[in-house]
Amino acid sequence: MSTLSIDWNKLGFQYLRANCHVRYVYRDGKWDQGRLEEDENISIHVASTALHYGQTAFEGLKAFRCKDGKVRIFRPEMNAGRMNNTARRICMAPVPESLFLEAVKTAVKANIEYVPPHGTSGALYIRPLLFGSGPQIGVTPSREYTFIVLTMPVGTYYKGGLTPVSAVIYDEYDRAAPLGVGNVKVGGNYAASMEPHERAKQEGYAVELYLDAKEHKYIDEFSTSNFFGLTADQKYVTPDSPSILPSVTNKCLQRIAKDMGMVVERRPVEFSEIDRFAAIAACGTAVVITPVNRVVRGKEVYQIGPPQGTIPELQRLYDQITSIQHGDIPDPYGWMVDLE
Ligand SMILES: *Cc1c(COP(=O)(O)O)cnc(C)c1O
Repeated sequence: MSTLSIDWNKLGFQYLRANCHVRYVYRDGKWDQGRLEEDENISIHVASTALHYGQTAFEGLKAFRCKDGKVRIFRPEMNAGRMNNTARRICMAPVPESLFLEAVKTAVKANIEYVPPHGTSGALYIRPLLFGSGPQIGVTPSREYTFIVLTMPVGTYYKGGLTPVSAVIYDEYDRAAPLGVGNVKVGGNYAASMEPHERAKQEGYAVELYLDAKEHKYIDEFSTSNFFGLTADQKYVTPDSPSILPSVTNKCLQRIAKDMGMVVERRPVEFSEIDRFAAIAACGTAVVITPVNRVVRGKEVYQIGPPQGTIPELQRLYDQITSIQHGDIPDPYGWMVDLE
């Protein structure tokens, strides 16, 4: 099918050049027609609000080559809605949902040969990006915005399916304040987690887990993915907190868990409950589900679930969501969107 020299089974999660990206500009109160760009570099005003004041939002979603050969996008309207929540919070021009969907479809079609074949665990990662590209030196919103959608083929984020990883809590760092910008997808949230994340990697942990910034009593989420736990009595528990980014993956898993007969609880989750879970995991578009079997906080070590592998319920959640995404089973929810 493809003439590209990509080893689809060895793809990780990193930038890889595809054909082109789509780019729209908002000027004088309206969005332009958009165009495809092959150049990976953009020219941006030296005084743009994105560069100086972090007026940027991003999204992440995936397109899959399904079993029937068609390429479909997973729940793009959810990302459109979330990007507009982010835009509103940091005073950027909104991207109408229809424009967002058109941009995503155009980008996927123009890079269609980069969608990994069915039967690999890969996907085309879609990265929408919105930022203030006009000049301001006083702190005011930009009058010009650029909206870009780039794509790249990706494999798995961490090596090997549902292999459990270790997480760490650093009480000397917070990710997001309760009434700050933790619930929207601004670039700066990732900047805030880079130092603790580099430290975590150096110390041998795959992920860091953040507690609520006010009391360090409740579980918030991991740096780039949501937290959920499964209990022995078939409950899916995920934190309710004002500083969590609402994950599309988490919402999908809640729905699937409910339809599998589990009770879904979205509520404040005290850290002291951690070792009462039969399994805990990180979830997000890039990782889908990453089980966590060990959490280290200072001198305390918490072992969660079986030391190797995972419990069958977690495996079933993973199998269900990935089978829908790859078109291996019928999509009972209408989550997959055709390109046309
Ligand atoms: C993007 C993101 C997630 C995952 O959201 P998905 O929609 O599932 O990809 C989780 N936490 C944070 C902080 C994020 O930025």
